[in-house]
Amino acid sequence: MSPESPSPTPTAPERSDFIRDIVAADIAAGRITAPVTRFPPEPNGYLHIGHAKSICLNFGIAKEFGGTCNLRFDDTNPVKEEQEYIDSIMADVRWLGFDWGDNLFHASDYFDQLYAWAVHLIEHGDAFVDDLSADEIRETRGTLTSPGTNSPFRDRSVEENLDLFARMRAGEFENGARVLRAKIDMASPNINLRDPVLYRIVHATHPRTGDTWCIYPTYDFAHGQSDAIEGVTHSICTLEFEVHRPLYDWLVEHLPVPHVPHQYEFARLNITYTVLSKRFLLKLVQDGFVRGWDDPRMPTISGLRRRGFPAEGIRNFATEVGVAKADATHDVALLEHEVRDVLNRTSQRRFGVLDPIKVVIENFPDDLVETMEVVNNPEDPSAGERAVPFSRELWIERDDFMEEPAPKFFRLAPGREVRLRNAYFITCTGVEKDASGRVVELRATYDPATRGGDSPDGRRPKATLHWVSARHAVPAEVRLYDYLFTRPDPGVGGDLLADLNPDSERIVTGAMLEASLAKVPVGETVQFERLGYFTPDVDSRPDALVFNRTLTLKDTWAKVQAKG
Ligand code: ATP
Ligand code: MG
Repeated sequence: MSPESPSPTPTAPERSDFIRDIVAADIAAGRITAPVTRFPPEPNGYLHIGHAKSICLNFGIAKEFGGTCNLRFDDTNPVKEEQEYIDSIMADVRWLGFDWGDNLFHASDYFDQLYAWAVHLIEHGDAFVDDLSADEIRETRGTLTSPGTNSPFRDRSVEENLDLFARMRAGEFENGARVLRAKIDMASPNINLRDPVLYRIVHATHPRTGDTWCIYPTYDFAHGQSDAIEGVTHSICTLEFEVHRPLYDWLVEHLPVPHVPHQYEFARLNITYTVLSKRFLLKLVQDGFVRGWDDPRMPTISGLRRRGFPAEGIRNFATEVGVAKADATHDVALLEHEVRDVLNRTSQRRFGVLDPIKVVIENFPDDLVETMEVVNNPEDPSAGERAVPFSRELWIERDDFMEEPAPKFFRLAPGREVRLRNAYFITCTGVEKDASGRVVELRATYDPATRGGDSPDGRRPKATLHWVSARHAVPAEVRLYDYLFTRPDPGVGGDLLADLNPDSERIVTGAMLEASLAKVPVGETVQFERLGYFTPDVDSRPDALVFNRTLTLKDTWAKVQAKG
């Protein structure tokens, strides 16, 4: 493609899936003009990459079909919900590249309406106040193969129910003393229809409504009615809610809602070597197994961000895994492949040495500093070049040298010539050791005719090494990550904690980096040549740099695919 030709359209063609097909059919048949979807997180933890899939799906459908997607906090459980989570969720959705515009809602916005609708159900004989305890309700619910039994309080009069429900609201009863239940069918083959609980007494301060309420609607009562109030056309959720759909529809049918929404279910995202469960991730945070919700090993969106994964890579991964109706576990290598694909295109190349050993170039003048012009990103000419200083003393990677080279080791060894990338060819002429016999310094000579990394006589060393001028280098701590779990299917043995990888973080101190790396802002990921992708950690300070390794360069996805 010539530089003049127009760039291709930036948005890749979206693939269709069974939910997009339903939306398209609804539009074609005139049932809707544009979809209204919603992403409904409960603010009881940070979002993880499973939520990213749901975000990409809901916001993606709205965008593609000219509709809207609401961000709705499902804040019906004040005991577990916090403002910190609300803030992080909004930041994460925005960072992923989506915008809810004016459509920010909370289930708590509808508490008055939901209460009125609960009263409506009571008035129509469709709900009753039950004095059974949570345990008793569970015991009388029956099983998959046997029906439940009616509560002795099921046949209370409408007047008594209205009175008790009002007193529940007024705070007359303790937590758990009474609940409001729908009156449906204790013999229904669907356990969700066996007089499900609609309201609970919870004396707790709510982040938004404060102490206005001491009764709170259950997920089942709040969710569909919130969808109805917001005019949601396609209420998309994960498969575990499929068995709740009859209740969702029952409530919408029995209430004077302004709009009839429909629920559709898709398979949740699972990924190897990690766990996507807010409850478990919270445990890791609370028990100090990780540095926090945004620890770079966490599958949270904030963790992936801190790790240096670009939002585009996560979105592309969501597109790649698609939307299906059958549960599946995706190989984490696919996510890494999508991330590398973006970073290879977008990240600037730099030199950094993780485990440095000094090389002294004996025939290079002590007071001379040469400046090498080095391409920032061979994949992107617009990224330009930068000046990299070269001087007599350099750092190279300790394992790029072997005093007695193994048969297939082609890098530096005594008497051997290698290329220093974008600089000169050097030949190792000597080795300095400490009292214990450990190599502490290398001596070498350079060939001035090879400036830039090419020899006029066509000599081609078998290895090219990265390097940093010792006088100009900046030291850094580098954190190297491995999977959080030792096995692809953590917890199969019944104990997730037993499968935690004790070596999931390795801290390297004394790495030596090209000075320009001190200026990389948090949020930008660069490639350290030959080593991988790295990003400054939020802990990084100008005088104490800290980098995270995002990923190594090795893409294991191709191998996975070849195996079929
Ligand atoms: P977790 O099980 O991790 O606690 P959750 O389902 O309780 O998650 P919610 O805040 O209720 O978390 O989820 C918000 C939305 O994200 C829901 O519509 C839910 O279906 C969806 N979601 C949650 N986990 C996944 C996942 N692994 N894959 C796809 N969508 C998910
Ligand atoms: Mg949930």
